[in-house]
Amino acid sequence: MFNPKAIYYEKEIVNYDLGKELMEKYKEVPKIEIENHNNIEEMRKKSNKEFANMKRNLIIGVRKTHKFVENHKTSDYLVPYTSSGCTAACMYCYLVCNYNKCAYLRLFVNREKMLDKIIKTSEKSEKELTFEIGSNSDLILENTITNNLVWTIENFKNTNKGKLTFPTKFDMVDPILPLDHQGKVIIRVSVNPEEIINKVEFGTSRLKGRIEAICFLTVFFIRPSNQILFNLCFVYRKIFCNQFCIPL
Ligand code: SF4
Repeated sequence: MFNPKAIYYEKEIVNYDLGKELMEKYKEVPKIEIENHNNIEEMRKKSNKEFANMKRNLIIGVRKTHKFVENHKTSDYLVPYTSSGCTAACMYCYLVCNYNKCAYLRLFVNREKMLDKIIKTSEKSEKELTFEIGSNSDLILENTITNNLVWTIENFKNTNKGKLTFPTKFDMVDPILPLDHQGKVIIRVSVNPEEIINKVEFGTSRLKGRIEAICFLTVFFIRPSNQILFNLCFVYRKIFCNQFCIPL
């Protein structure tokens, strides 16, 4: 369970249900009002050695950019979704390149607008589109704070077209197991040799937990038209990542 040291928040968040909920949930946590979640001066001025400490904060704001980026790997579009950054600290994470700018976990409370754009884009398209909603964060982790993944699946499952996909390095999958997502959600669980996870993927779920999560997802979550994808990442001096798709 992530217990933030401080909450940095934009004041508009209280105009959204999720914003109010999070402010209530963390009412005991010290709060600092900010102008813009993209530019927190106090964080920018900190030295890189403060990296781990900065990750103990939570930033809550309203997402202003909703631009979809075409993608030809795991989806048709990369979609800016409900969070960015992460509480973990994998040594190879591209977010590390931006120590003071966006490595910490930022939550965006205007989820209705983000999901609505996905649904409208999907319905307008002639082909069945897949949307990557986890390219900026880890939604299984985020769900432990916001319940956003449960909310997303509940509100997307009865749409006419489209699929959602996201990767994870976390094992807290219990809240989504009972959901009937109608085959519309594809989860990609990342695994690595135990030694690599222990030495490189700090703050993520350990291998045993991820394997158990895969087993639970396979039994309770996967639908006949669905797939479970294993991200097998071998991290040596250079990083290369192969994804194997195992149709069920
Ligand atoms: S879990 Fe993902 S987002 Fe978080 S630090 Fe590791 S690679 Fe980065």
